[in-house]
Amino acid sequence: MFPLIVYKKALFLDNDIMEGLMEINNMFNKITAFCCVAILLALSVPARAALPDTLVIATDGIPYSLVREAQLKGEFKDFYPASKMIGVFPSLSDAAFDDIFHCDTPLGYQRIHFSPEKNEVVGKFINELIHPEEYQLRFDSVHNGKIHYVLIYIASNTMAGKEIAAMQRDFFMSNNADVFYVFIEATDPILHKYGKDKTMLFLDNLNKTLDDLQKEYIAKTGKHLKIIAFSDHGNTDG
Ligand SMILES: [Zn+2]
Repeated sequence: MFPLIVYKKALFLDNDIMEGLMEINNMFNKITAFCCVAILLALSVPARAALPDTLVIATDGIPYSLVREAQLKGEFKDFYPASKMIGVFPSLSDAAFDDIFHCDTPLGYQRIHFSPEKNEVVGKFINELIHPEEYQLRFDSVHNGKIHYVLIYIASNTMAGKEIAAMQRDFFMSNNADVFYVFIEATDPILHKYGKDKTMLFLDNLNKTLDDLQKEYIAKTGKHLKIIAFSDHGNTDG
């Protein structure tokens, strides 16, 4: 089952929609994320600028229920309703994103895991913990810095805000690809530490930023930007 929500104007653009759907379907054919929101804004005018025509936002661990709640209170109003996805097992970012980007299969449950070959737990040293995973290198806007990785567990909301701001800045500096990939990672620590209320603040910010980004994109290019957003896994209340 593949979930998708489509910007209402896209209904008038069947070719663009089908193209977008096929792209997304191919991209996430093997995704088994527990929950997600997938958002597509369709084009209304042929491209003329060098900016990418598609923005793909991967948020770490945002649950489906929270995105629906945001939509019910009026956010992401130009998008079709979020849909559910089925998660990988184990429902973890490393496993999910490795699958999404067709990276090598993870060696263990997480970076820290038991190695039968070595007969010991590996991946526990700080330099092993903070180096970027292969899937993280596939994104155009991602924070791979060691300090950032530590800070998202300390000042999670602040760092999530910085990641959103970086997305907007980096996107408009990009001109060498059709699709621009963004990884928002601080959302997972926010959920683990503070639960859904503070995560909703992130969605409020994302909603506003995407509105601004879309307006700026239209002003610069004369067309709508296709935006697809999803999470690699969900997060439960219990
Ligand atoms: Zn995660």
